[in-house]
Amino acid sequence: MVVTNTFLLIAQAAVYFTVMMSLLQARHSIGIGVFMCALGVMHFLETYLASVFYIELPFGIISPGSTILFSGKLLMILLLYIREDALVVRQPIYGLLIGNFLIVALVMILRSHDTVSVIPDRVPDIRFVDEMGWLMVWGTILLFIDAIAIIVLYERIGDAFGRHLGWRFLVCGAVVLTFDQAGFYLALRYVSGAPLSVFFGGWAAKMVATLLYTGFFVTYLRFFDEKAKWLTHRSFRDVFHVLTYRERYYDLLETSGRDHLTGVHHRRSYDLNGPKILQESLAAGRSITMLVIDIDHFKLVNDRLGHQAGDEVLKAIAGLLNENLRAEDHLYRFGGEEFVLLCDRLAPEAAMGMAGRIRKLIEKFSIIYLPEKVTVSVGVASAPEDGDSLEALFQTADQRLYRAKHMGRNRVCGPAVQD
Ligand code: GH3
Ligand code: MG
Ligand code: MG
Repeated sequence: MVVTNTFLLIAQAAVYFTVMMSLLQARHSIGIGVFMCALGVMHFLETYLASVFYIELPFGIISPGSTILFSGKLLMILLLYIREDALVVRQPIYGLLIGNFLIVALVMILRSHDTVSVIPDRVPDIRFVDEMGWLMVWGTILLFIDAIAIIVLYERIGDAFGRHLGWRFLVCGAVVLTFDQAGFYLALRYVSGAPLSVFFGGWAAKMVATLLYTGFFVTYLRFFDEKAKWLTHRSFRDVFHVLTYRERYYDLLETSGRDHLTGVHHRRSYDLNGPKILQESLAAGRSITMLVIDIDHFKLVNDRLGHQAGDEVLKAIAGLLNENLRAEDHLYRFGGEEFVLLCDRLAPEAAMGMAGRIRKLIEKFSIIYLPEKVTVSVGVASAPEDGDSLEALFQTADQRLYRAKHMGRNRVCGPAVQD
């Protein structure tokens, strides 16, 4: 029986890791929401299992809910952080916290119902809900602390472990899950007087789970991924501030290279990343095109509607541009009401088509949604045809923009002029 239990537990960890890791890996094509929802859904099962479902292993009696699912989730949160950043990872951390409290609140209301039995002999198991209630609240608070602690610790020990990612992962898991087991045991002891052996049994199981997941992770790194991409080193203070929602919003936008008003990348981000994007594209022999987009007579829009409404118009147009980007497009707010769109893998003829579509889109959108019609003029330049540096491309695109303005605005000007 013990052998079967051990085998089943390893199978659970393997299935859990494989599916969750695949979702994390596929986040650029299917969106990170899939990974986060899967993580959230598992939480309920895990809490239920932790309260009633126990099995016997060589080192004691353990709960697969705590061992496989809880440890797995914490390590998945760490993997998500390493792959993305503190801003992304705080979404599931806060989502789980709020969702769990919501469950408890709803259950408190639900249990006041007078229920009827629709299927004979089937009645709701309210005892289970009661048993789970306090565990859910305490477990949720612990998870919140654990999740922040594991990420902060991961950054803290970065220098000591260098490129040994597996060890770094193992140490973080072992330390935080030990802390977690102590916290959980304290609650169990307080409520039901659980003996010390419960602490050690659960602790040993969590350590085995950490080893198992580290093994899977290292195997994954070796055979399916490039190790270097997983090495992060961010300031531990900044990470803590973001995770605990203490960062100032503007500072955050600044560090993530985004403009305060519109939320798109700002000019400095263009100076910093633009040349890299262009050079990579040219080196790979691809076409890359720059669109300089300037709103027509924006001074008049401000004059007629007021500066604040002008800001709203700017935000709406930036948002519209942002929603219509391809994965290879990079949008920057270059100046006041001027945007630069750097489009990798876009040849000159296709670029003219795209610029034309953007121009019409903004015009149509403004007629329906904005207080007055707003149009843009666009200058288009492509590399290598129009130059092979960012400055040369911008200069040509800007001259063409000027020509479009001169010819009456609300038009696109590239190697050829478009109405
Ligand atoms: P055109 O480009 O068609 O030649 O005319 P324009 O009126 O748009 O002229 P220009 O591009 O030279 O002027 C841009 C104006 O945009 C100046 C300023 O009043 C306004 N502007 C710049 N930044 C902002 C901003 O952040 N918010 C608002 N509301 N207005 C801005
Ligand atoms: Mg303008
Ligand atoms: Mg302008």
